[in-house]
Amino acid sequence: MISKAKKLKLWKELNKDHCLRYDKEYRKTHHKSIRANAARYRLKNLEKERLRKKIYMRDYSKRQTSIEKEIAWRLNNVKKLKTYRIKHNKKNIEKIRNYQRAYRKRYTKKNIEKIRNFRRIYKYNLKKAGKLTIQTIQKVYESNIKKYGTLTCYLCLKPINFGQDSLEHKQPLSRNGTNECKNLDIAHRSCNSKKHCKTLQEWKEGFKTNAE
Ligand SMILES: [Zn+2]
Repeated sequence: MISKAKKLKLWKELNKDHCLRYDKEYRKTHHKSIRANAARYRLKNLEKERLRKKIYMRDYSKRQTSIEKEIAWRLNNVKKLKTYRIKHNKKNIEKIRNYQRAYRKRYTKKNIEKIRNFRRIYKYNLKKAGKLTIQTIQKVYESNIKKYGTLTCYLCLKPINFGQDSLEHKQPLSRNGTNECKNLDIAHRSCNSKKHCKTLQEWKEGFKTNAE
Protein backbone atom coordinates (compact mmCIF):
# COMPACT_ATOMS: atom_id res chain seq x y z
CA MET A 1 0.00 0.00 0.00
CA ILE A 2 1.18 3.52 -0.84
CA SER A 3 0.69 6.09 1.90
CA LYS A 4 -1.51 9.13 1.36
CA ALA A 5 1.42 11.55 1.45
CA LYS A 6 3.32 9.54 -1.16
CA LYS A 7 0.25 9.39 -3.39
CA LEU A 8 -0.12 13.17 -3.18
CA LYS A 9 3.55 13.63 -4.01
CA LEU A 10 3.22 11.42 -7.08
CA TRP A 11 0.11 13.23 -8.22
CA LYS A 12 1.85 16.59 -7.79
CA GLU A 13 4.79 15.44 -9.87
CA LEU A 14 2.47 14.27 -12.65
CA ASN A 15 0.52 17.57 -12.63
CA LYS A 16 3.41 19.96 -12.23
CA ASP A 17 2.07 22.73 -14.49
CA HIS A 18 -1.31 22.76 -12.88
CA CYS A 19 0.20 22.87 -9.40
CA LEU A 20 2.51 25.72 -10.29
CA ARG A 21 -0.36 27.77 -11.68
CA TYR A 22 -2.51 27.00 -8.67
CA ASP A 23 0.30 27.85 -6.25
CA LYS A 24 0.82 31.20 -7.90
CA GLU A 25 -2.85 32.13 -7.67
CA TYR A 26 -3.12 30.85 -4.13
CA ARG A 27 -0.11 32.90 -3.04
CA LYS A 28 -1.59 35.99 -4.63
CA THR A 29 -4.92 35.73 -2.82
CA HIS A 30 -3.60 34.43 0.51
CA HIS A 31 -0.33 36.32 0.96
CA LYS A 32 -1.41 37.79 4.30
CA SER A 33 -2.30 34.49 5.92
CA ILE A 34 0.83 32.83 4.49
CA ARG A 35 3.00 35.50 6.04
CA ALA A 36 1.22 35.23 9.39
CA ASN A 37 1.59 31.45 9.37
CA ALA A 38 5.30 31.71 8.65
CA ALA A 39 5.78 34.16 11.51
CA ARG A 40 3.87 31.89 13.87
CA TYR A 41 5.95 28.91 12.80
CA ARG A 42 9.18 30.83 13.38
CA LEU A 43 8.09 31.78 16.90
CA LYS A 44 7.13 28.21 17.72
CA ASN A 45 10.35 26.64 16.35
CA LEU A 46 13.00 29.05 17.52
CA GLU A 47 15.70 26.36 17.95
CA LYS A 48 15.07 24.93 14.50
CA GLU A 49 15.24 28.38 12.96
CA ARG A 50 18.55 29.06 14.69
CA LEU A 51 19.97 25.85 13.27
CA ARG A 52 18.71 26.74 9.80
CA LYS A 53 20.37 30.14 10.02
CA LYS A 54 23.61 28.52 11.14
CA ILE A 55 23.61 26.20 8.13
CA TYR A 56 22.74 29.14 5.89
CA MET A 57 25.72 31.11 7.19
CA ARG A 58 28.00 28.07 6.90
CA ASP A 59 27.17 27.78 3.20
CA TYR A 60 27.56 31.50 2.71
CA SER A 61 31.12 31.30 1.35
CA LYS A 62 30.04 28.69 -1.21
CA ARG A 63 27.28 30.94 -2.45
CA GLN A 64 29.68 33.87 -2.53
CA THR A 65 31.91 32.06 -5.02
CA SER A 66 28.93 31.31 -7.22
CA ILE A 67 27.97 34.99 -7.18
CA GLU A 68 31.53 35.90 -8.14
CA LYS A 69 31.33 33.42 -11.00
CA GLU A 70 28.14 35.04 -12.23
CA ILE A 71 29.67 38.52 -12.07
CA ALA A 72 32.68 37.28 -14.05
CA TRP A 73 30.38 35.74 -16.65
CA ARG A 74 28.46 39.00 -16.95
CA LEU A 75 31.68 40.96 -17.45
CA ASN A 76 32.79 38.54 -20.17
CA ASN A 77 29.43 38.59 -21.99
CA VAL A 78 28.61 42.28 -22.05
CA LYS A 79 27.67 42.27 -25.76
CA LYS A 80 25.41 39.25 -25.44
CA LEU A 81 23.64 40.77 -22.47
CA LYS A 82 23.20 44.07 -24.26
CA THR A 83 21.54 42.49 -27.30
CA TYR A 84 19.35 40.42 -25.01
CA ARG A 85 18.32 43.51 -23.04
CA ILE A 86 17.45 45.45 -26.20
CA LYS A 87 15.36 42.53 -27.47
CA HIS A 88 13.61 42.14 -24.15
CA ASN A 89 12.89 45.87 -23.82
CA LYS A 90 11.44 46.02 -27.33
CA LYS A 91 9.16 43.09 -26.61
CA ASN A 92 7.90 44.40 -23.26
CA ILE A 93 7.87 48.13 -23.92
CA GLU A 94 4.29 48.69 -22.72
CA LYS A 95 4.84 46.70 -19.55
CA ILE A 96 8.06 48.59 -18.75
CA ARG A 97 6.44 51.98 -19.38
CA ASN A 98 3.52 51.13 -17.12
CA TYR A 99 5.91 50.03 -14.41
CA GLN A 100 7.95 53.22 -14.74
CA ARG A 101 4.81 55.35 -14.56
CA ALA A 102 3.65 53.59 -11.42
CA TYR A 103 7.11 53.88 -9.88
CA ARG A 104 7.28 57.61 -10.60
CA LYS A 105 3.85 58.11 -9.02
CA ARG A 106 4.88 56.22 -5.91
CA TYR A 107 8.19 58.07 -5.70
CA THR A 108 6.65 61.55 -5.98
CA LYS A 109 4.03 60.68 -3.38
CA LYS A 110 6.70 59.51 -0.98
CA ASN A 111 9.25 62.32 -1.58
CA ILE A 112 7.02 65.31 -2.24
CA GLU A 113 8.93 67.58 0.15
CA LYS A 114 12.28 66.62 -1.36
CA ILE A 115 11.02 67.30 -4.87
CA ARG A 116 9.56 70.68 -3.91
CA ASN A 117 12.84 71.65 -2.33
CA PHE A 118 14.71 70.54 -5.45
CA ARG A 119 12.40 72.64 -7.63
CA ARG A 120 12.97 75.67 -5.39
CA ILE A 121 16.75 75.30 -5.70
CA TYR A 122 16.45 74.80 -9.47
CA LYS A 123 14.42 78.00 -9.83
CA TYR A 124 16.93 79.90 -7.71
CA ASN A 125 19.82 78.62 -9.84
CA LEU A 126 17.98 79.61 -13.03
CA LYS A 127 17.52 83.13 -11.70
CA LYS A 128 21.17 83.38 -10.74
CA ALA A 129 22.37 82.10 -14.12
CA GLY A 130 20.79 85.03 -15.99
CA LYS A 131 18.32 85.03 -18.85
CA LEU A 132 18.85 82.73 -21.79
CA THR A 133 18.07 84.80 -24.87
CA ILE A 134 17.44 83.65 -28.44
CA GLN A 135 20.46 85.68 -29.56
CA THR A 136 22.85 83.71 -27.35
CA ILE A 137 21.34 80.39 -28.52
CA GLN A 138 21.84 81.48 -32.12
CA LYS A 139 25.42 82.48 -31.36
CA VAL A 140 26.14 79.09 -29.77
CA TYR A 141 24.78 77.21 -32.79
CA GLU A 142 26.70 79.41 -35.22
CA SER A 143 29.98 79.06 -33.35
CA ASN A 144 29.53 75.27 -33.14
CA ILE A 145 29.02 75.01 -36.91
CA LYS A 146 31.94 77.36 -37.55
CA LYS A 147 34.21 75.21 -35.38
CA TYR A 148 33.30 71.73 -36.69
CA GLY A 149 31.85 72.34 -40.18
CA THR A 150 28.48 70.78 -39.34
CA LEU A 151 26.44 70.65 -36.17
CA THR A 152 28.56 68.43 -33.92
CA CYS A 153 28.30 67.14 -30.39
CA TYR A 154 31.15 68.74 -28.45
CA LEU A 155 31.20 65.81 -26.00
CA CYS A 156 31.51 62.79 -28.33
CA LEU A 157 32.59 64.77 -31.44
CA LYS A 158 30.06 62.98 -33.68
CA PRO A 159 27.68 64.86 -36.00
CA ILE A 160 24.16 65.45 -34.72
CA ASN A 161 21.06 64.33 -36.62
CA PHE A 162 17.98 66.54 -36.82
CA GLY A 163 16.05 66.63 -33.54
CA GLN A 164 18.88 65.13 -31.49
CA ASP A 165 20.52 68.41 -30.48
CA SER A 166 20.39 70.11 -27.10
CA LEU A 167 22.01 73.03 -25.35
CA GLU A 168 24.65 71.85 -22.90
CA HIS A 169 26.04 73.79 -19.95
CA LYS A 170 29.76 73.12 -19.56
CA GLN A 171 29.51 74.18 -15.92
CA PRO A 172 26.08 72.94 -14.80
CA LEU A 173 23.49 75.42 -13.57
CA SER A 174 23.24 73.47 -10.34
CA ARG A 175 26.91 74.21 -9.72
CA ASN A 176 27.01 77.95 -10.30
CA GLY A 177 27.08 77.71 -14.10
CA THR A 178 25.73 80.64 -16.13
CA ASN A 179 23.71 81.09 -19.30
CA GLU A 180 26.55 82.95 -20.98
CA CYS A 181 27.69 82.07 -24.47
CA LYS A 182 31.07 80.71 -23.35
CA ASN A 183 29.44 78.29 -20.92
CA LEU A 184 27.18 76.80 -23.60
CA ASP A 185 27.69 74.33 -26.42
CA ILE A 186 25.67 71.83 -28.46
CA ALA A 187 25.52 68.14 -27.55
CA HIS A 188 23.47 65.04 -28.29
CA ARG A 189 20.49 64.71 -25.99
CA SER A 190 21.80 61.33 -24.86
CA CYS A 191 25.30 62.71 -24.22
CA ASN A 192 23.77 65.62 -22.32
CA SER A 193 21.81 63.37 -20.00
CA LYS A 194 24.82 61.09 -19.53
CA LYS A 195 26.93 64.05 -18.42
CA HIS A 196 24.13 65.14 -16.06
CA CYS A 197 25.50 67.46 -13.35
CA LYS A 198 29.19 66.71 -13.87
CA THR A 199 31.56 69.47 -14.90
CA LEU A 200 33.41 69.06 -18.18
CA GLN A 201 36.59 68.03 -16.36
CA GLU A 202 34.80 65.38 -14.30
CA TRP A 203 33.03 64.02 -17.36
CA LYS A 204 36.32 63.66 -19.25
CA GLU A 205 37.93 61.85 -16.33
CA GLY A 206 34.98 59.48 -16.01
CA PHE A 207 35.15 58.81 -19.75
CA LYS A 208 38.82 57.87 -19.48
CA THR A 209 38.28 55.39 -16.65
CA ASN A 210 35.37 53.84 -18.55
CA ALA A 211 37.45 53.41 -21.70
CA GLU A 212 40.25 51.67 -19.81
ZN1 LIG B 1 27.28 63.08 -28.45
